[in-house]
Amino acid sequence: MGNTIFTKIINREIPADIVFESDSLLAFRDINPQAPTHILIIPKIEIPTVREIKGNEHSKLLGEMYDAANQIAEKEGIAEEGFRLVFNCGSNGGQEVYHIHMHLLGGRKMNWPPG
Ligand code: 5GP
Repeated sequence: MGNTIFTKIINREIPADIVFESDSLLAFRDINPQAPTHILIIPKIEIPTVREIKGNEHSKLLGEMYDAANQIAEKEGIAEEGFRLVFNCGSNGGQEVYHIHMHLLGGRKMNWPPG
């Protein structure tokens, strides 16, 4: 455990543009933004993929992630126009970092279906 780049960001071993922090969460700007606003919201505990999420164990944490997303979207000025929240899972889902993260994307019209 403790070996993804996101753990290093949590531990301040590598820098990130942090926009939100709580006891359980950290949020920072994506290094390779896909929209004018592209923020990653991550739990401080390590959960590799959404497949390890258990409703009875992680429901509070997930609720906090959605609360954080709403709060950040308001602060970023993208709440009214709308935004997209994405969890990629596994290789077909396009996941690169195996520490769950919610992508908050906004500031432009999103396409559907996604690529
Ligand atoms: P995934 O593809 O796993 O859903 O998303 C991983 C995201 O993390 C990508 O959008 C990628 O740009 C971002 N990312 C990877 N390494 C770093 C880093 O060191 N710093 C920041 N801020 N973002 C990163």
